[in-house]
Amino acid sequence: MKKIAVFTSGGDAPGMNACIRAVVRTAIYHGIEVYGINYGYEGMMKGNIKRMQSHSVSNIIQRGGTILKSARSEDFRSAEGRRIAYSNLQAQGIEGLVAIGGDGTFTGAKRFHEEFGIPIVGCPGTIDNDIFGTDYTIGFDTAVNTALEAIDKIRDTAAAHDRIFFIEVMGRDSGYIAVECGIGGGAEFVLVPEQKTELQDLVKTFKNLRKSKSSSIIVVAEGDDAGSADQIMGAVKASINDPEKEFKVTTLGHIQRGGNPTARDRVLGSRCGMAAVEGLLQGQKRAMAGVVNGEVCYTDFHDCITKKKVLKDDHLKLIEILSI
Ligand code: ATP
Repeated sequence: MKKIAVFTSGGDAPGMNACIRAVVRTAIYHGIEVYGINYGYEGMMKGNIKRMQSHSVSNIIQRGGTILKSARSEDFRSAEGRRIAYSNLQAQGIEGLVAIGGDGTFTGAKRFHEEFGIPIVGCPGTIDNDIFGTDYTIGFDTAVNTALEAIDKIRDTAAAHDRIFFIEVMGRDSGYIAVECGIGGGAEFVLVPEQKTELQDLVKTFKNLRKSKSSSIIVVAEGDDAGSADQIMGAVKASINDPEKEFKVTTLGHIQRGGNPTARDRVLGSRCGMAAVEGLLQGQKRAMAGVVNGEVCYTDFHDCITKKKVLKDDHLKLIEILSI
């Protein structure tokens, strides 16, 4: 293999730049020409491909976002879109790809490999931490720390005014961010998509909380089955029906995606990026490079996409016990 390309796709995540840097420099170290594709699969279809050198990735390890830009591409879902993308790679002589993204990106990569045989190794770049085959995803640690900083600030004002705050964090299908923020932020409750939310139980437990607790924090993952933090707050407020209690909602939103990556995300991004290039050289064809129990390992895209990473019950129990 003499020429490879790297791209970022789907939602951006802090630490993607550290990963790109590792891909570029590992490739150069092994004497391989490396190309960057801008805007993920969309850029692949438009031929938005440029040669990268070691200096192309200077001074980016500390930056959030992705210097290669990211996109969601509807056209790549069509056979014709993928055919155009492949012919653009062929025109540049590219023989292998490193795809940095989430499960959607790997679904596209698996299909692309099946159709054209091009070897692809993925790196888990998503703040949601919902990918099977790696203990943590690149961006998760930074997103949790960003949300925690906000929760700490909200806690100050919640305590000062005896308020009950519902804080919505990211996680359409996964409660990982909510659970870590809940533990680290000392929340009374954490509501996640993996567990059915019974509003009546929530209200009952709420009423039973010790009287000396004048303020409370409830962390809600955006994909919770009972609705948004705003809707859940409305329902709880109506059930409690106590004019003395003040309820507030804060939706943290996209601030969770930005900011300088933490040390953990820089290291994880760097390790996965290096492993992706070395995986391609060792003959990996359609797998993700992740880190499990501290060791780099490769997981077939099929398993990354179809197997569900399970949220640990003991984490939810921990929140329950520590909130008494
Ligand atoms: P995140 O978890 O941050 O949302 P992601 O990689 O899951 O990241 P998606 O938007 O789901 O983000 O997927 C990224 C891109 O992958 C899509 O915009 C699309 O171009 C491609 N893709 C997803 N599923 C398929 C598919 N079934 N066939 C072809 N391409 C796909």
